[in-house]
Amino acid sequence: MELEGKTVVVTGASSGIGAAGAELFAKEGANVVLGARRSAELGALAARIQAANGRAVVLAGDVRDAGYAEALVDLAVREFGGLDGAFNNAGIVGEMLPVPDMAKAIWDDVISVNLTSAFLAAKAQIPAIRKRGGGSIVFTSSFVGFSNGGLPGMGAYAASKAGMNGLAQSLASDHASEGIRVTALMPGGTITPAGGEGNPDVMSFVANLHPMKRMASAQEIAQAALFLLSDRSSFMTGSPMIVDGGMSVRLL
Ligand code: NAP
Repeated sequence: MELEGKTVVVTGASSGIGAAGAELFAKEGANVVLGARRSAELGALAARIQAANGRAVVLAGDVRDAGYAEALVDLAVREFGGLDGAFNNAGIVGEMLPVPDMAKAIWDDVISVNLTSAFLAAKAQIPAIRKRGGGSIVFTSSFVGFSNGGLPGMGAYAASKAGMNGLAQSLASDHASEGIRVTALMPGGTITPAGGEGNPDVMSFVANLHPMKRMASAQEIAQAALFLLSDRSSFMTGSPMIVDGGMSVRLL
């Protein structure tokens, strides 16, 4: 039980990597606080976790709202007595276009959902984690915006994820002395709705970017998040964790 007795907020829990993470963390003993906009999906996941004797509560909302980030922390404190960690994972790709053709509204939306939400989450979570004497915050970043990740039409997404890596480094340095670790997890292509699940052409293109010639399962990425949330990664903060089937080391 890697997370026995710990309480963890998971955003983007209605689908893909977040849902797989929440299920795994609960199996490893965590109390999970599930966030996303779709309440039916969150409720179904909480029911699955509870049926397996896990502990889960849900609160639907939009990660662009500062009040929602605070409400998730309040719920963790009210239901489980405090907060030990967070998997800030909600994200969107947005419409893929070259920048000259990209409306500013698309840019604003992607930056707001992916990057500003990370700022709002950390702002709400750090005081609560500090009260516990430390903990771990994990952001889901991406291979896009990192080494070999300069994919066409993804300017807003790449900027949001590169910004998240910088935010994680700065937070790590600010809060290391308080025992609060902050890391960015950088998955390669992962089989989820955002990763092109159900579209064979997209999945084959993305799979072929990886030396392993396949995409990750959401469960494989969740395992890396579990490591970052658990005490097994106790000397790790600020540094990115790349889980990309070798993409970032491939030259050709
Ligand atoms: P997904 O299945 O589409 O899940 C995205 C999650 O984000 C959903 O639960 C969605 O929930 C939530 N979300 C989106 N906008 C939101 C908003 N405004 N407020 C609250 N929740 C919101 O995709 P995924 O692949 O698991 O994505 C998870 C993370 O992994 C993202 O940050 C993504 O950028 C990153 N990532 C994915 C891949 C990949 O290939 N799949 C690769 C690298 C990184 P609702 O729609 O219910 O709100």
